[in-house]
Formats: sequence, C-alpha cells, structure tokens
Amino acid sequence: MTGKPLVAVTGASSGIGAATARAFSAAGHPVLLMARRTDRMAALGLPDAHLAQVDVRDRAAIAQAVADAEAKFGPVDMMFANAGVAHLADISRQDPDEWDAMIDINCKGVMNTVHAVMGGMIARRRGTLVMMSSIAGRKVYPDHTVYCGTKFFVHAISESIRGYLAPHGVRVVVLSPGVIETEVLGGVTDPDTLAAYRANKAKMGGGIGADIVAALILNAYSLPQNALVQEIVITPTAQE
Ligand code: NDP
Repeated sequence: MTGKPLVAVTGASSGIGAATARAFSAAGHPVLLMARRTDRMAALGLPDAHLAQVDVRDRAAIAQAVADAEAKFGPVDMMFANAGVAHLADISRQDPDEWDAMIDINCKGVMNTVHAVMGGMIARRRGTLVMMSSIAGRKVYPDHTVYCGTKFFVHAISESIRGYLAPHGVRVVVLSPGVIETEVLGGVTDPDTLAAYRANKAKMGGGIGADIVAALILNAYSLPQNALVQEIVITPTAQE
C-alpha cells in the first residue's frame, strides 16, 4: 500500500479501461476493476487490485463493488465511467436490440457508475469523474446513428454534472477519443459498416494506442484538485 487513493475503472478487462488501470496502478494507486470478464482483469496481474464481476446495467452490483473495494482501500477518488459498446451499423438494417444495448450500457451504465460514487465525493469535497464519450459525441457519422446518440448523451450529462459538482469541489472530465486500437470493433455486426470503418482507419494509418489515452487521464487527474481539464480530445493526427 502506497497511501495513494483508490481509483475505479469500468470496462477494465480490455482496451482503454485496462490501459488506464495499468497506468494508475503503476503510479501507485490501488484499483477497483469492474467488467464482466474477470479472467481478463485477473490477467492484468495488478497489485492492490479489487476485481469485481460487474455488468454496468446492474446499479446494485456497481454499488456493492465500490463498497467492497472502499472497505479495503478507502474512498474512491477517481471513477472512470468507461465501459461501452459500439454497435456501428446502417440504421435501417440494424437489429433494434443493438440500440437497446448501447443505450443501456453507454448511457444508463455511465449514470449507474457515477451514481455509486457521487455522494461520497460530495461529502469529502473532492474527487474526479472521467466520463467516456468519443469524437462521435462531438460530431455525427451516418453509420454511427445510435452510437453517436449515446455519446452525445454522455457529453450533455457530463456538462450538467460538471456544473452541479463544481461548487462541491468535484471535477468532471469528458474524454473524447478518436480511433484507438482496442477490441471495440468486436461489437460491429454489420459487415459493410465494419469494412468502411477499417478502410477509413487504414487511410489514417491506423489508430493510436490505448496507453496514450491512459497517460492523458493520469495527467489530468494528477493536477491539483482546483485545476480541471474539462475535456480531453485525442485522435490520430490524420483523423479528419
Ligand atoms: P474494448 O471493447 O476493448 O473495451 C470495452 C470494455 O467495456 C470492456 O472492458 C468490456 O468488458 C466493457 N463492457 C462492455 N459492456 C459492458 C457491460 N455491460 N458491463 C460492464 N462492462 C462492459 O473497447 P474500448 O476500450 O475501445 O472501449 C472503451 C470505451 O471507449 C467505450 O465506451 C467506447 O465507446 C469508447 N471509445 C472507444 C474508441 C476507440 O476507437 N476504441 C473511441 C472513442 C470512444 P466486458 O466485456 O468484460 O464486460
């Protein structure tokens, strides 16, 4: 134990969440890792880690994971509401079950996640919420319809929550990455959309590493509590 505060990450089993958990752990923080694939979180092999099998659609499961980790490591000082799915598709052909999944995980899951820690942060008058949006939460793409809707949702609630929490000394950072190399395309079931995405990605020379995003989050978090990076926008240089 290093004396550094506990940080929590949803979607910690792969991609940006796993990279962020690694970065904060390397900086000496105990970490609460939440996702459905516990084997993948265990494989990270992080010290002072509490692993919880959590589906972010389950508000009670998040609250329980936070309570269990806080009993070991003290209060959560940073929550990264990161878990999400990207069922990119032609809207006229898409199975509406994919809309439900994106709305439930990317929107309601983020609300469930911040709900579990907001009260404690207000009481302690400190804390940082990092909200996972996307470039697709700042501009729309024709084959990203509902995904863009969920990420615009994250932008909107984050700005509202930032205003609400500012007088309480709690920081809210919106994270808007462009193309990052992760497993996120595993959620794309429409072959035409997948092919178009891959072609566009190849044109820009590929995505950038999740470790770069993690370093930016750690950097924003590490600033004094009275300094807030309101939004992080990070893309491959060649992304339009
Ligand atoms: P990955 O697919 O590698 O990671 C997604 C993570 O979300 C996994 O750890 C997965 O864990 C978790 N997850 C998905 N559904 C649930 C659920 N119901 N409950 C709990 N955890 C869940 O992709 P990324 O790292 O890229 O994605 C992370 C976030 O980044 C997403 O919100 C995505 O929209 C966003 N993003 C990604 C970009 C990119 O180019 N990669 C660009 C912009 C934003 P498990 O399956 O084990 O539950």
